[in-house]
Amino acid sequence: MKILVQKFGGTSVANLECMRKVLLKVRQGLDNGYKVVCVLSARAGETNRLLALASEWSQTPDPAESDVLVSTGEQVSIALFSMLLKDAGIRARSLLGWQIPIITDATSGSARIHEINGDKLKKLLEENDVLVVAGFQGMTEDGRITTLGRGGSDTSAVALAAALDSCECEIFTDVNGVYTTDPNICSSARKIDKISYDEMLEMASQGAKVLHIRSVEFAKKYKVPVHVRSTFSDDPGTLVTQEDSTMEALLVSGIAFDKDQARVTLHGLPDVPGIAAAIFGPLSEAGILVDMIVQNTSQDGHTDMTFTVSRKDLKKTLDLMEDVARKTGATEVAHDVNVAKISAIGVGMRNHSGVAARAFSTLNREGINILMISTSEIKITVLIEEKYLELAVRILHDTFGLDWDIN
Ligand code: ASP
Ligand code: MG
Repeated sequence: MKILVQKFGGTSVANLECMRKVLLKVRQGLDNGYKVVCVLSARAGETNRLLALASEWSQTPDPAESDVLVSTGEQVSIALFSMLLKDAGIRARSLLGWQIPIITDATSGSARIHEINGDKLKKLLEENDVLVVAGFQGMTEDGRITTLGRGGSDTSAVALAAALDSCECEIFTDVNGVYTTDPNICSSARKIDKISYDEMLEMASQGAKVLHIRSVEFAKKYKVPVHVRSTFSDDPGTLVTQEDSTMEALLVSGIAFDKDQARVTLHGLPDVPGIAAAIFGPLSEAGILVDMIVQNTSQDGHTDMTFTVSRKDLKKTLDLMEDVARKTGATEVAHDVNVAKISAIGVGMRNHSGVAARAFSTLNREGINILMISTSEIKITVLIEEKYLELAVRILHDTFGLDWDIN
């Protein structure tokens, strides 16, 4: 049995007209000889509406009940779409997460998938040509409903593809694929034909929103090729797959950015063992993700520590840091929200030197000051003033030749 997993996002199932387009894509899968597992998101705007409802009812909505509530968005989508399939004479049925089951841990709102037993689905695929599965949701071992975090239907789809040994996972959305950068900011942004898992992971974690980051982690781990494409066109889309020599030939594959950054600095910290632990321990206990970190060199036995967090976590971070400052003797806790992060990403960097220098001199030419730098094997990230972000995206995109069609 050849199985294809196809996932459709909220804008693809927004209304009847869109769902009819989805039906055509599912039909193509069937015509190519596949049984189709179709994973759906909630209809566009629905998850936000449900979350708003929760906050209307409670100032601190119970996380487990919140999951029961928001997971209903996908239930509506799968029921409506299954009706369309049946009316079209296609053997199909809907399935909620717990009916499969998709077993997750108990972290409400951002649960991780532990296990999917593909056997039940394979059995159901003997009597059906299409299974319509609710994305974004799962169930704990003891039967409570969970959700996987915003954008989590991508992860449901890739995890199902892995569990079913599907040859590919198609992620249908409202854009033609993954772009070298955001076309709304840089008009010469190009669609990428093929990108490696590692590059996609960096793109997703550095701010590109097209795929849920955990879906890429799953895809990499289980070697599932992920095909990002549009419900509304026949464009071949972007293939996210294992690295190959064509990808290495490019120095930089994409420019990603993230405005959701706030910079926090503790000044005048004593430069002694245990200071980093005293700062980052409480942040990690509070579930706050720290992104870039820089510690200055010591002067007179004192040092500064600067790091970035998401803006939504700033207030909590500052409260915690005031406490850390009291305990460690730091002289000041400063912060800045007018900052943004920009990254150049590419597996080609592994074998080429000078990429960072080129990025820095490009920014310098426009008088853009670099506030922080971090690098990995395949990424250079700088923090800059937010007002320069769009300019920086365009000049870096240009410097690395991303508008040339050589992919
Ligand atoms: N409906 C959920 C959300 O809006 C999950 C998803 O669409 O992937 O985040
Ligand atoms: Mg999405």
